[in-house]
Amino acid sequence: MKINAINSYTINSYKTQKTIQPNKVLYTNNIDTVCFKSKKYITDLRQIPNITCACCGCETIQNTTIDKLLHSKIYYPADEALSILKKAGYFKRKEMSYTEQQAYNFCYTYSKLYEHEYIKDIFDKEHVKNLIKTFDKQTQNDIRKIELMTSSVYHNSKYMVEVLRPYKNIMHSAQKEVFELLEKESKKTPEKTFTEILSSPSIRKNNLYKLEKKQEMVFAEVEKIASKMDPKSYKIVLRRIRKAKIIFDKPNSEIQNKRTYVIDMFKKLEEQLPDNPLMLQILSKIYELPSSKNDANSFIIKYGTNNPNVIAERLLRDSAATIEHVKPKNRKNDNGENKISNYVVFCNSCNSERSQMPYSEFIKFHPDMPENSQKYLDIVIENINNGTLEGFDKYPHQIQKAIEDESDSKIILNFKTLNILDAIKNRTSKKAHS
Ligand SMILES: [Zn+2]
Repeated sequence: MKINAINSYTINSYKTQKTIQPNKVLYTNNIDTVCFKSKKYITDLRQIPNITCACCGCETIQNTTIDKLLHSKIYYPADEALSILKKAGYFKRKEMSYTEQQAYNFCYTYSKLYEHEYIKDIFDKEHVKNLIKTFDKQTQNDIRKIELMTSSVYHNSKYMVEVLRPYKNIMHSAQKEVFELLEKESKKTPEKTFTEILSSPSIRKNNLYKLEKKQEMVFAEVEKIASKMDPKSYKIVLRRIRKAKIIFDKPNSEIQNKRTYVIDMFKKLEEQLPDNPLMLQILSKIYELPSSKNDANSFIIKYGTNNPNVIAERLLRDSAATIEHVKPKNRKNDNGENKISNYVVFCNSCNSERSQMPYSEFIKFHPDMPENSQKYLDIVIENINNGTLEGFDKYPHQIQKAIEDESDSKIILNFKTLNILDAIKNRTSKKAHS
């Protein structure tokens, strides 16, 4: 049965399956159509054009822009995916059962009805969802199988590189490095997918080797710091290092986020060895363990075996603009508020790295945060002054105070460039013209 031949295909078990892909690039739409078009007024900090991360200073991209790109350019439209599968020999009428035929007819009809849309988007439509429910169980299963097959048709690397290239400048340095590798490899083997390139034995082996070298270097430094401790504490740290190495040797499937796991192990060590002045040095060293967010080797080992669409998304998602609460939301006894006066824009990567950490601590890992926060505020002020940003006239004062408090006065911003008179004038003239 042709449908069953592919039914074990899941996105997670990519490694064991062969990719179905077109022989040529089918999509040549202009990429600009999916880029964010700035509105006249902005009421959300994340929508400010070219807003930079208040922590690392990198330019950000909007999550909605990434989503639009994925849905309109990267995911394969259902109608085209089905036709590729059919050409590859699937869905032969004689080889399908009655329910499979019904399922196929249904998928075919709706893929034609919603031309150029991704199968998941079509099936997410309320009326389509309800319609699927009217079929018997077996047909519903067969529809799901075809949905899975259809969403597992991927573009080749040549196409993907072209789609992602306009966004290269907003990628963080590790992601840019991975992208450049994909760019180079796609020139040699344009028909291969991102996954086929990144999971090739030679690339994987090389990256794993480099990653392990970097991890070993960090552990060697930790050991050096620990050797200055009393013998008993030194032994405890050594045991922790050994355990950490075992964790890194385990397969990805067993522990999802090994680096976080290891960092947590060392954080707990702090409870075991309280008041040890060298503990802070060890902790900040442990944070230097390469992560998929800041290290290309680590990115390739973590995401290289995922499907090509996931890899493309990961290249961009860390740069997405997110709202960060200056005073964290869920801190014990001291909740930060869901208010503009407590918001800054962080990229996704810095946001998840900080979590609940106080600014006064976090700044140790990001010594250039003061100037990046200022750069961020200057862009915000520029947009208030020129009348683009509405409802934020008090924001520079408020955020200056919030950041000063949260950072124990380690970051003191200035908002001298704020000119409320200009802001009012420019907003009024914009309104008059609209
Ligand atoms: Zn950042």
